Amino acid sequence: MVTALDPLLIAVVFLIMFVGFTRRWSSWRMGRDEPRSGDLAGLMRYLLGHTRILGNRSAGIAHLMLFWGLVIPLFIVILAQFHFTMPDILAKVLSLLADVLGIAMFSGILFFLVKRISSADSVSPKRIILPLVALLGILLTGFLAEGARLSIIHPHFAWSSPAGWLFSIFSPNSPVFMQIMIRLHFYIVLFFIAALPFTFMRHLGSATLNVYYRKKDPRGKLRPISLQEGPLGANRVQDFSWKQLLDSEACVSCGRCEENCPAFISGKPLSPRKVIQEILKQMEAVNHGRMNPDDPSFPLLQDVITANEIWSCTTCMACVEQCPVFAEPVDKIIDMRRYQVLGRGLLPAEARPMIRDLEIYGDVNRKGAAHRDDWALNLSVPHISDEGLNPEILLWVGCSGAFHPRYQETTRAMVKILKAGGVRFGILGKEELCCGDPARRLGNEEVFLDLALKNIASLKKYHVDKIVTLCPHGFNTLKNEYPAIGGNFDVIHATEFVMGLIEQEKVILKYPVTRKMAIHDPCYLGRANNIYEPLRYLSNAVPGINLKELKRNRENAFCCGGGGGRMWLHENIGRNINNIRAEEISKSGVELVGTACPYCLTMLEDGINFLEMEKPPKVMDIIEIVASSLG
Ligand code: SF4
Ligand code: SF4
Repeated sequence: MVTALDPLLIAVVFLIMFVGFTRRWSSWRMGRDEPRSGDLAGLMRYLLGHTRILGNRSAGIAHLMLFWGLVIPLFIVILAQFHFTMPDILAKVLSLLADVLGIAMFSGILFFLVKRISSADSVSPKRIILPLVALLGILLTGFLAEGARLSIIHPHFAWSSPAGWLFSIFSPNSPVFMQIMIRLHFYIVLFFIAALPFTFMRHLGSATLNVYYRKKDPRGKLRPISLQEGPLGANRVQDFSWKQLLDSEACVSCGRCEENCPAFISGKPLSPRKVIQEILKQMEAVNHGRMNPDDPSFPLLQDVITANEIWSCTTCMACVEQCPVFAEPVDKIIDMRRYQVLGRGLLPAEARPMIRDLEIYGDVNRKGAAHRDDWALNLSVPHISDEGLNPEILLWVGCSGAFHPRYQETTRAMVKILKAGGVRFGILGKEELCCGDPARRLGNEEVFLDLALKNIASLKKYHVDKIVTLCPHGFNTLKNEYPAIGGNFDVIHATEFVMGLIEQEKVILKYPVTRKMAIHDPCYLGRANNIYEPLRYLSNAVPGINLKELKRNRENAFCCGGGGGRMWLHENIGRNINNIRAEEISKSGVELVGTACPYCLTMLEDGINFLEMEKPPKVMDIIEIVASSLG
């Protein structure tokens, strides 16, 4: 029964929804400009497959049921408005599909309602409850109306409407009751639509947009900033770009980032969810007209997200990997660090000597160019410019590879493999500087740029095309970040390159390493750059290795605690992250841990030594393990 008022009601409801979404739109559009391209095919894959959301099995399945339970019946209802005729059997199948999906949706709603109501977590928004109750009302009134209709016209079981049949058992055989249910159903639908932008359900729009505009570059690539034009990082909500603000608008506060954050797990004050939600609160304050972001009394980000929070981040990307709506807490944390360092000169005291060393010596070890190639003494390692070398690759040694006594062993192992494989390679030697990663992750873009531009000039001077790096941080910086400032090179990680040598049978491994071994995936190879297989290929290529995966491996690997400049910061709150990982390794019962990063090597060795085990597992770079099998 349609009344004369209904079209007006519908128009008003859609107007409310439109105005609401426009206001929300303006709250994240107040951010700075940022070029981003959309990806419709990727969005479709995301919606159809739900793979990201299914990362949390139970919530993912419930979401899948709720989503399809909403979308397909909605599609069928819209289709029904066109009144075209279809074969009876097809109409019945569609009716059955709508019923089954309705039941699935009902189960999904119940799951989320129970989860949110019973959650002791104060950050978990209770505002999801109202739209869920509305959805429940829509379903129940729909089923009751269908039940009443069936009990009037067809009191026997109808296979095309099992839920309606079930409801027909206790629905009164009354046209009036049916009409009341239809009207109620209609009004709750209208309420749900009008309330969309003002409730949690607005993520139907914001999360979809966020997935559409998600980052397509490698995760490890940081957004460059201009030191001339600014802003130098972020200290007010409008210093973020529109996409960074859209991240907060899309956040569903599911807590997956927090559950997987090593800083949070180890008891540090950082929660990536809180960071995202604090930004959202400021956006909402502006959006609701409570505050003017340009007013000096408007709270700064540093007032709501403390220094201890932003300096706790290891930039491990676990939060980015886990987020079902592709929000990226890390780039906000880095922008806040940038403001503290570049805008206020507030780098934590313990990291200042390292930055000074970078400025004076060009390395993090306070050694200087004169000692950069001491590690290669008596190894006959050619310089890239050596006459007649005609190099295939440049070996990027990195600060750890050049100066850290333990990691020098890995560099020498790499040289051994390259020589065994007959690879023509050279190094920059005294002309190589720190790649700039520690300075950049600690917010000092100025020092990063200085080092990076000098390195690029040296690499161009020798017409370098192909670079092989040992350190994943150097790999990430050279491969993903140097192109933005004019350094375009073909950058390969050592594990990938050596895998190629073994595949081409240029390197033959013959001596067994009879050990039960696990791999610790470095964050800057794995989550940041999606490199997992070469580590496993190399380990399996060594005769005698019995490879066992750790409980948290590949994209779920637990951080060593050393990234994001944390190698140079004290860890005096909560537990040490490397100790947590070392415990996990010790419980796995392996005798050897292979990794592919100087930070991981150092942090894990320290963590395992701390455990004072009777027979501690040995920590080695996988390059060293491969070299030891050469004989
Ligand atoms: S940022 Fe992503 S993972 Fe974290 S709470 Fe929000 S939606 Fe969940
Ligand atoms: S990058 Fe790692 S440490 Fe930083 S907030 Fe995300 S999960 Fe936590």
